[in-house]
Amino acid sequence: MLVEIKIDEEKCDGCGTCVDTCPVEVFEIKEEKSVVVNPDECLVCMACEVQCPNGVIKVIE
Ligand code: SF4
Ligand code: SF4
Repeated sequence: MLVEIKIDEEKCDGCGTCVDTCPVEVFEIKEEKSVVVNPDECLVCMACEVQCPNGVIKVIE
């Protein structure tokens, strides 16, 4: 599945909710920012978009 996952780095506060939410470990926290490390695993479930408290994740199919 071809999917693009964008994070607005400026507004990400590194809370880690996306890491805890994603069922397939797409995200890691590096230097207090979320980084997409496994985009190929994404299931397009949208849980990260919904759960990010700052609304900075966009999953685009
Ligand atoms: S849930 Fe949102 S604010 Fe928190 S680390 Fe992930 S992208 Fe950043
Ligand atoms: S859409 Fe689902 S599978 Fe894809 S990165 Fe977000 S939480 Fe993970």
